[in-house]
Amino acid sequence: MIILKIGGSIITNKDSQREVDTSSLKRIASEIKRSFDNSSKELIIVHGAGSFGHPPAKKYQIGQPFEMKDYLEKRIGFAEVQNEVKKLNSIICESLIEHGIPVIAIPPSSFITSHNKRIYDFDLNLIKTYLSEGFVPVLFGDVVIDDEVKIAVISGDQVLQYIAKFLKSDRIVLGTDVAGVYTKNPKTHDDAVHIDEVNSIEDIKFLESTTNVDVTGGMVGKVKELLDLADYGISSEIINANEEGAIAKALQGMKVNGTKICRK
Ligand code: ADP
Repeated sequence: MIILKIGGSIITNKDSQREVDTSSLKRIASEIKRSFDNSSKELIIVHGAGSFGHPPAKKYQIGQPFEMKDYLEKRIGFAEVQNEVKKLNSIICESLIEHGIPVIAIPPSSFITSHNKRIYDFDLNLIKTYLSEGFVPVLFGDVVIDDEVKIAVISGDQVLQYIAKFLKSDRIVLGTDVAGVYTKNPKTHDDAVHIDEVNSIEDIKFLESTTNVDVTGGMVGKVKELLDLADYGISSEIINANEEGAIAKALQGMKVNGTKICRK
């Protein structure tokens, strides 16, 4: 099985609200279709919330502790975030369907709960059923009910990590807008040096975190999720999905510039 994560930074313009990068989306959809046709492996797609989910999550401080008197407002925030990410998901699915990929949207908020912001209850049976029928399940970063903090944001990276761990995925590709992990944010530092492989948290402890608006931890959060996965013997790679053909190649197991996350 292959799991592909499409970063919010690739399909949306993170600096302006609710803007899809249509040409990127089309190109990525055609790359997915190409590799889907050339492979007999099952495929799951996870995407980020990008400029759809993050602004309302920030406005209502979803994920921050709150008092019960503010619960109504928080619930409105929850509803807004969920509604926004659903809109993005619908645009992505529309493009994938147009390219002939039989996708089925599975919103995490409709069946996942968390404990202290970590996925706790996640019934994978429906996903397995769709996979066995030849569908491509599409999940995304979403809001969920949390038994500790009531409302939590679950990143697409956490969703990917959970699915990969329990469905024993053998290829995990994360497409973002940089070619993996660098010693510094490559967007703001010309002297950033590329890191080919990350084996432990020690390798990234000196990193500054993402400068993008992101309540889910940016690059550092992503690598932590993937190291967690690596503990289960599952390696993954972060690649630059802006590079034409990179997703198609990575999905087919070919070598692509990026960072591999694995334990030694
Ligand atoms: P996505 O939305 O694709 O999941 P994020 O925006 O959460 O990705 O994280 C990717 C961003 O992290 C990049 O655009 C980059 O600017 C930023 N970033 C910050 N620090 C680093 C680093 N040390 N190495 C690579 N990227 C970094």
